[in-house]
Amino acid sequence: MMKIQNQTNSTYSPGMPVKGIRGQILSFHDDPFLKEPHECYDYIDDGLIVIQNGHIIDSGEYQDTVCKYPDITDLDVYDDALIVPGFIDCHVHYVQSPMIGSFGDTLLDWLKQYTFPTESMFVDKGFADEVAREFFKQLLEHGTTTANVFATTFETSVDAFFEESERYDTRMISGKVLQDRNLPDSLKDRSAEESVVLAERLLKKWHRRGRQLYAVIPRFAPTSTPQQLRLAGELYQRYIDQDVYMHTHLDEAQSEIDWVKELYPDQSNYTEVYRSFGLVDKRSVMAHCCIVTDEEWDTLHRCDCGVAHCPSSNLFLGDGMFRYWEAKKRSRPVRLGIGTDVGGGTNFSIPRQLGDAYKVAMLQSRSIDALKSLYLATRGGAETLHLEDKIGSIAPGYEADIAVIDLKPSEFIVWRMNFAGDIFEKLFVLMTLGPDNINRATYVSGRKVYDRDREKRYMYAAELDAVIQI
Ligand SMILES: [Zn+2]
Repeated sequence: MMKIQNQTNSTYSPGMPVKGIRGQILSFHDDPFLKEPHECYDYIDDGLIVIQNGHIIDSGEYQDTVCKYPDITDLDVYDDALIVPGFIDCHVHYVQSPMIGSFGDTLLDWLKQYTFPTESMFVDKGFADEVAREFFKQLLEHGTTTANVFATTFETSVDAFFEESERYDTRMISGKVLQDRNLPDSLKDRSAEESVVLAERLLKKWHRRGRQLYAVIPRFAPTSTPQQLRLAGELYQRYIDQDVYMHTHLDEAQSEIDWVKELYPDQSNYTEVYRSFGLVDKRSVMAHCCIVTDEEWDTLHRCDCGVAHCPSSNLFLGDGMFRYWEAKKRSRPVRLGIGTDVGGGTNFSIPRQLGDAYKVAMLQSRSIDALKSLYLATRGGAETLHLEDKIGSIAPGYEADIAVIDLKPSEFIVWRMNFAGDIFEKLFVLMTLGPDNINRATYVSGRKVYDRDREKRYMYAAELDAVIQI
């Protein structure tokens, strides 16, 4: 088929089905923590996104754009809504969905009492399938289209997750959790060697299969023997140039940091423990990072790591509070996104996490505005996962993963919005007052996999393809 280049340098195939989404559009192309904030985004009051073969091929003012695509077969129009890139959750445990909202005392007690017994149940594939199904429904209902996800020890937990992701064609990152000490026997790897062999087998099975990506995941330093961390580091280094990730927890709570110091007295800090095993590198994503020394920030910056700020978890577990101004210090910034950390976090909604991020900052006499917050939830998350050339923005060439935020989700907010000015004031109202779900529809690879107003709210890719070819 003949292909032509349109004005925005994206490939358009005339004659193939073209989908359009019309409404207010907001998307970031740069980092407002490091550049002039108002030069970092594009906002269009009446815009059109044009999608073909799962990718955005054009976006711009509706009137200027629509005339270029006379063969748009399918147009969704959203009034009183804001169309944004799908949200990105940079740190979440899908296996903790069944125990979200459990009473906690300290982090380590909470793990022992609720987390470990729940994760032990994933040895049963049927249970893992059921939780994966529910987890994806929660993500998509809240407009999250990509997540960086902990499974748990068992092969079943990884297979169940990726199988469900394939059904929606979501771009997801996950992997087997490596943990061979300081856990109940029901959850512990039998040996460091065996665990890393299994991780490599799963990596070969799932990495780059469709949109799926694999991460090497030591739970955190105290639950792996030095031998397991060494083998995990070697596995990561063998595949790092094939875009495999390393994902773990770092510097969440003082009690955890003290424990790491006891286990590794010769290392100068917690980050050095991971680094000494080859685990701190250009595709490493560290969750939490609440209590971080200057030396550690320097290392994370130098190694081009991503960091996941998990504000709802900070408030719920009470272990530490993230300092974004340290993470984004201009002399040594790191890639930064938002994580729900379910079940340490108490909801699956990235917009609600942003409301909590404001509170975490205010408790430390700082603030964070809606502009920077929305960047962290979209483009910042993509940068954290080194996927900023594929997802996190609405622009030609990007994968068509899109959320549609309801600007009038309740009667009171309709009234309250009368007193809000620009789009960022409205967003701040939603982040702060919005109900649990302010998302109307979620598109993944251009397919509307979730629609709040459709009789069948969630639909797999194959079901949608049977209705219309995109
Ligand atoms: Zn976590």
